[in-house]
Amino acid sequence: MEEIDCLFIHPSTHYRSQAQDMKDLITFITMPMGTIAMADLLYANGYSTKIYHTGIEQVYKRSFIVEDLFSQHDPKVVGIDLHWYVHSYDAMRIADIVKKQSDAFVVIGGFTSTFFSQEIMANFDSVDAIIRGDAEIPLLELMKNLSKDTLEEVPNLTYRTKHGIKTSKGVYIADEEDLGKLDYTNFELLSNYDKYHRVTTQAGDLDPYGWKLHLKRMAWVPLGRGCTVNCSYCSGGNKGHCSLTGRDKPVYHPKEQVVSILARFEEVGIDSTYMDFDPYVDRSWYHELFEMMRVEGVDISTEFALWSLTDRAFARDFKRTFNPLYSTLVLSPESGSEDVRRRNKGFYYTNDQIHQWLETSREEYIPVEVYFASGLSGETQENFGETLELARSILEKYPIISITCNSIQMEPGGPWYIDPGRYGIRPKWKGFMDYYNLFKASADGIPPRSQLGYDTDWQTEQEILGNSIKFNEMLEGFALGRWDLIAKGEDLIKIAKV
Ligand code: SF4
Repeated sequence: MEEIDCLFIHPSTHYRSQAQDMKDLITFITMPMGTIAMADLLYANGYSTKIYHTGIEQVYKRSFIVEDLFSQHDPKVVGIDLHWYVHSYDAMRIADIVKKQSDAFVVIGGFTSTFFSQEIMANFDSVDAIIRGDAEIPLLELMKNLSKDTLEEVPNLTYRTKHGIKTSKGVYIADEEDLGKLDYTNFELLSNYDKYHRVTTQAGDLDPYGWKLHLKRMAWVPLGRGCTVNCSYCSGGNKGHCSLTGRDKPVYHPKEQVVSILARFEEVGIDSTYMDFDPYVDRSWYHELFEMMRVEGVDISTEFALWSLTDRAFARDFKRTFNPLYSTLVLSPESGSEDVRRRNKGFYYTNDQIHQWLETSREEYIPVEVYFASGLSGETQENFGETLELARSILEKYPIISITCNSIQMEPGGPWYIDPGRYGIRPKWKGFMDYYNLFKASADGIPPRSQLGYDTDWQTEQEILGNSIKFNEMLEGFALGRWDLIAKGEDLIKIAKV
């Protein structure tokens, strides 16, 4: 049994479905990229540490259970990430296991646990503390202060005392200098890290046959934190960051650090990256980064998620910088209705501008992915037909490599959640226990009472889910030449035109 100062456990989401013989399956594989940086920060300060991604462990050893970790390690502290709400149940389930198997102090962190910190502390005795907002320095301070009588000195901390739940007064918000000191590439701290980069190449669930996936190795690139706008459905917008972390404007990682991270990715065989931090329409920061990458000879692909439209200069710079093997630009107009897009998206653009942007991408030979959503505020059956029509016209005119539509779930802490009446949202999920129970039911193979967590003033949840199905059926019809499937979508397009 190895004594260890801090064990990080990433709680993969489990589910069972009748369609797959009620097998225990794993979904939402991505681990917050800051986990490695936090583990490295502790390591650099003399603390022993190790990270386990429970999904990766289970995929490569089917008999793996979390309890196994405690026959190998005797941790002083266990850190569990609860950034995305999809881990609400599994994070709490693992916290309970930790308390049964060890005397470790359990600390959780991430946006979801920040937003629900009081409710989680009140309902789950197995959680000793929650770090709210930026967690790196607070976690290091927690390690230093653990043996003291009080944790009051640890910033951003909500914790238990004999007298109840307390919130420390200190506030920590990471600035560019802080971010620049973090090392996101100490992969050896993550158990089976090479396998993590291989299975991350799958867009969705963990493939049960992970050993077959060895073509592409992918990693997320830390670029910055924050946003300048507030999309109606997103908890990571400007106001969300203000209330969760205290950050009122975006902060970038130093460009030199990003280039050296990419170079390190190459060294360990990662050939494809995902870049998803684009808070300003002015892309000068990226033009400078791309120039530095070319000077350093970084040779890597990227899937670059655009938060707003870009111009031809960006397309050319992008093309000159990234290896074309797996590189794409990703745009999410969400709706074909300009009214609905304006009402919900922080960065607005017209349908004509989308077509012009696609034309430029085609002329510059850049593959494009386009994503739509159903269920937006103000969306009706009629104007969803505009979404189908825009998707059809894009498919007919441009060489798109991926186009799809998903229904949006209610994110805790986003504008819909905070002020549903303003957006015509009728919420069904109103607190942490609703998210916990949703994912507990899913892990037990029980169909959820609600899949999205809301109706709107314009559509029921079932209609919203049905729209995404119609969209994807229409696409399948195009792919397979199935006119019966295309016709279903065209019926809605006709309604939209009446
Ligand atoms: S652009 Fe919109 S969806 Fe993207 S982070 Fe900002 S608020 Fe969220």
